[in-house]
Amino acid sequence: MSHNPQLLDATVALRLERIAAPDRNWRKPMIRAALGLANPEVLRELEVIQSVERSAAKLQGVHETRLERLLHHAWSQTDYYREILEACGAVRSGQVNLDRFEDIPFLTKDIIRSQGERLVARSLPAGRKAYKNQSGGSTGQPVRFWQDNVYWGTTIATRTYHFSTVGKEMGQREMKIWGSEVDLLKGSIGWKAKLENFFYNRKFEQCWHLPEERILAIIRHINEWQPQMLWCYRDGIDAVARYINEHGIPVHSPASIVLGGATVYPFMAQAIERAFKSPAISAYGSREVGAVACQCLHRGGLHIATQAHRVETIGPDGRPLMEADAELAITPLMNYAMPFIRYRIGDRGRMSRKDCACGRAFPTLDALTGRLVEVLHNSKGEQIDPLFFMWIMDEMLNDPIVKKGQFVQEEDGAITLNLVLEPGASMLQAQPHMDKVRQALMLVMGPEGPVRFAFLEDIPLSASGKFPYIVRRQSLDATGDIIQRN
Ligand SMILES: [Zn+2]
Repeated sequence: MSHNPQLLDATVALRLERIAAPDRNWRKPMIRAALGLANPEVLRELEVIQSVERSAAKLQGVHETRLERLLHHAWSQTDYYREILEACGAVRSGQVNLDRFEDIPFLTKDIIRSQGERLVARSLPAGRKAYKNQSGGSTGQPVRFWQDNVYWGTTIATRTYHFSTVGKEMGQREMKIWGSEVDLLKGSIGWKAKLENFFYNRKFEQCWHLPEERILAIIRHINEWQPQMLWCYRDGIDAVARYINEHGIPVHSPASIVLGGATVYPFMAQAIERAFKSPAISAYGSREVGAVACQCLHRGGLHIATQAHRVETIGPDGRPLMEADAELAITPLMNYAMPFIRYRIGDRGRMSRKDCACGRAFPTLDALTGRLVEVLHNSKGEQIDPLFFMWIMDEMLNDPIVKKGQFVQEEDGAITLNLVLEPGASMLQAQPHMDKVRQALMLVMGPEGPVRFAFLEDIPLSASGKFPYIVRRQSLDATGDIIQRN
């Protein structure tokens, strides 16, 4: 892959200069005025973020105050947390003891489903209003939950701030290339959405179905409109970037390309950067917990928005685990409608102790290392890093014979590789490939682990427009469904 880090560094330096240049964007004051009327929480939160951005002590202060308030609210307003928090000693007779935070039992999707109303707050502080929301549920049942306007304001503010750290100020052009049908309908239909998109200077492109003419239409739109930033579903922009690289199509280079929707593997980021000559930025969030973390242009890890979230990385024993691949447990500090405390979201990440070169106080996640459903197990019960399978996938997809591939594990130790061949390619041509892949897979799965190949007409996207490259069925049962990322 002819990725040139020096060229990219030079591009990043140029972007940083551009950000420092005076802002001549008429939309920014107008958006601020409109937000002040319609959504004052956003501006309030932006002020909070700016006040703690450069001070770890101030950031920690806001974090702890908000965490303490959340625990007290959950204890006083929900039946479930009254019981749980009293039992573990995190709140006793209305007194919060943050030292006992790690004794609070984790929240799981099963608990959310079974406890339902017992997790919903009986009343909210003045000025808060609750809204119903739900996760995508591309397989299995969706998870339903309540969120409030202050939480939403915090999410918008955090995202606005994250975008500003990658070179896109409020009001500058952004193009959202997104997969989910629901999001697309919500985002592009109705006068309110249209007005909002006009103010935010945002255009949409859908990428849940990408035949060649759709890819070309997206590239044309980017070139005509020249957005400052692309905000993309990983799988959609990955397909567009591969197409650009394959055909050598000239394309507008935005200040940054923010990627969400799924784990961004290094070779995907490289293909996207090669296509657009722009830095690929990894962002992390979801419907249930909002905008959690995002890289800045220095890309020294994903800055966690700890003013609004507590993010823990936990080992198999449920205790904190630093600087190693671990499961994430997330507490959104600002949602009072239905508090989520230590929520096992089903994602994996690596907590870092290093500071990013930008000097921002927000701690960082080194990397997001995949969803739990992407961690396959060999016959000895060992867990294999999804990156291993994704390297094999990358090799296969760079070959003109294979169009799509997907690893599926129905039972531990066994693997099925679903393949869709390019039109005109034969199974005979694919044979040497399959032999190599089988050998590579046997290295981690063990010689006795069966490796099957299935040739399919197509592998459809999930209902939320995602392409799952790796699926472990047992994990799907355990976590219930693949949550819609955004
Ligand atoms: Zn940074």
